[in-house]
Amino acid sequence: MNYLSTRKNAPAVAADRAIRAGVAPDGGLYLPQTFPSFSLEQFDDKHSVADIGETLLRPFFENSPLAENLTAICQSAFNFNVPLIQPDPSQPDLSILELFHGPTGAFKDFGARFLFRCLDHIASPADPVTVLAATSGDTGGAVGCAAEGGSNARAVILYPKGRISAFQERQLCCWSHPVNALRVDGDFDDCQRLVKTAFSNIALSTEYGLTSANSISIGRLLPQMSYWSQAALAHFRETGSRPGFIIPSGNLGNAVAAIMARICGMPIGPIVLATNANGALHHWQQSGDYIARAAIATIANAMDVGNPSNFERLNQLQNAKIDAVYKVDNCAIKARISDTLTKFDYIACPHTATALEAYSRLDHRARQHRRWIIAATAHPYKFADVVDPLIGTSTNLPANLASVATRDVSVTDIAATDRALAAALA
Ligand SMILES: *Cc1c(COP(=O)(O)O)cnc(C)c1O
Repeated sequence: MNYLSTRKNAPAVAADRAIRAGVAPDGGLYLPQTFPSFSLEQFDDKHSVADIGETLLRPFFENSPLAENLTAICQSAFNFNVPLIQPDPSQPDLSILELFHGPTGAFKDFGARFLFRCLDHIASPADPVTVLAATSGDTGGAVGCAAEGGSNARAVILYPKGRISAFQERQLCCWSHPVNALRVDGDFDDCQRLVKTAFSNIALSTEYGLTSANSISIGRLLPQMSYWSQAALAHFRETGSRPGFIIPSGNLGNAVAAIMARICGMPIGPIVLATNANGALHHWQQSGDYIARAAIATIANAMDVGNPSNFERLNQLQNAKIDAVYKVDNCAIKARISDTLTKFDYIACPHTATALEAYSRLDHRARQHRRWIIAATAHPYKFADVVDPLIGTSTNLPANLASVATRDVSVTDIAATDRALAAALA
């Protein structure tokens, strides 16, 4: 299996090269050149996310040296629970797929852990890899955690000073070798600019083997197909019908992964997106015109994206049907969090709440017709500042996040200049 750039101006490469590069040399995003087509019997004796992921991903790594390590990569990257729960006994057709039981409490753990295990095999002491990530949310924590303890791939995480919550900051700064957190004297845009300039500096890029851990990396999208497939297969085996998915979306990585799984023949019904007030996808779905916008800050901040990078992939995939897009503003998110607690005794994070709200807006027939699986993308504890006032109590620290609270932290302060970043990389 080879991967081609969405901009069609770069050579086809195998999985390890596409993962290592992050972005293609022509500035495009890598997509598989063809998609394997599975019959469901191939999964008959597979039940866990790790086992299903391994079978599903095998053809995607066919001509790559990583194929040899795929079993170990899947087993160690997908080693936490992915419960499918039914919040309301009176609504058996509503399920929530909790994707936040990994070590940093967000679904980003799947992609980051898989990516780093691949990079650790791809890189070597003579050919180092440095993942450079600018973050204001869940990606940085997941990347730091995934990189910790690795030998050949290090992570350098940039975040804006004084602009993230205390828990988020801990979660970026608590990882040991080979992870470095850089606190930038500037805002998130400064962090992104520094990272972009570093990537385009060929000398710097080559010296440190810079690459990205953003969801432009195909190494994050491939593993995300695994839990969608696991959830769909489990439901299909039980009932013979295909569940619909409702996906809280920002940069569209999670949604594109679900679409890729459906293209491979997984029994997935309609795919519905829920966004916050950032309206590019909603407008596109309504009008057919895609207009990139500046991001608006919302309380579902991991989805504050005005110009989702994976739109470029969505646009190129054949059969990439999105069935509906619902745009949910702050007010509706808050109301849905309160309502979900009152009605189901369930606490949703603001991102998950956009999908629960989208479910309530589906027309009656669509709701009656099939099971809907809502992705819960983060543990509500991570967004306690938003959630607690709405539910009138404090969200409990879950076991998977407890160690973050007690670890030592270390951070390097840098000015928002290219020279300061280059010095910190050295
Ligand atoms: C990253 C993130 C999203 C958005 O996922 P995309 O793949 O960027 O669409 C949603 N919810 C949470 C909690 C996230 O961290």
